[in-house]
Amino acid sequence: MRLVIASNNVKKRKEIASILGALGIEIVAPEDTTLVDVEENADSFADNAKLKADAFAEANQCAALADDSGLCVDALNGAPGVYSSRYAGANASDADNNKKLLRDLQGKENRHAHFACALHLSLPDGRALTAEGRVEGVIRRSPEGHGGFGYDPLFFCPELGKVFAETSAEEKASVSHRGRALRMLAGKLASLD
Ligand code: IMP
Repeated sequence: MRLVIASNNVKKRKEIASILGALGIEIVAPEDTTLVDVEENADSFADNAKLKADAFAEANQCAALADDSGLCVDALNGAPGVYSSRYAGANASDADNNKKLLRDLQGKENRHAHFACALHLSLPDGRALTAEGRVEGVIRRSPEGHGGFGYDPLFFCPELGKVFAETSAEEKASVSHRGRALRMLAGKLASLD
């Protein structure tokens, strides 16, 4: 199976490529992929993933895998959720989003959160495969570590005993929402006729 990764987010593409590469799936190089700017206007991760996968499959005329993911914080009623990448505004940086999250959690006792990931693989014959993954955690009071992307410096993962920004790519993938969803998807792909 040869596929394009339906994302313009370089760090997310790297994470997906390294997990799928380890599972023996061939990824079209970013320079050979026609990128598409998709308006992610659905109100669920799954529907946004479908929008992106379908647009990239059409533009590249081959299988396309999209990930839509985000952070859901209990004390904020699930926010930032599908707005995770633009929580602090349309062109917000990861640092801006992290600062806003810390501000919004000031004075709140409950700092439990989870990352969610919805995957949608659009196949050239019109079929599709989907998978979801989730990982529980706690939002720290200040950023820690230098790895990863997005909210990784604030997301403490009890299973690993550290924030995601302090883990290696392999450690993060072993428990992350994205790692779990990708392994589930690879299993479904292996049993496809
Ligand atoms: P998307 O590209 O619209 O799916 O936006 C996903 C956003 O959710 C990212 O820009 C991050 O802010 C956040 N996010 C998703 N997965 C992760 C992760 O593994 N670590 C940290 N932040 C993440």
